[in-house]
Amino acid sequence: MTSDDDPTVPIICSACETTTRVPLPEVAEAVERHNESVHDGESIAEVDPAVVDRLADLVADDMGLLDDPE
Ligand SMILES: [Zn+2]
Repeated sequence: MTSDDDPTVPIICSACETTTRVPLPEVAEAVERHNESVHDGESIAEVDPAVVDRLADLVADDMGLLDDPE
């Protein structure tokens, strides 16, 4: 079953001055790929700090870590 409302996460690159929204499952790979291909592996691009807290909630919620409804 797939959903059409996968959360997307903004990745900000201060060097490129770009913001790219990618689906949550692809965030880590997208950040790594950008830094590898554009910045020689330097960790410049990152998830928008403003959503990191929300992201943690989303991930925790998605994985059922916050609570365990029976
Ligand atoms: Zn960049």
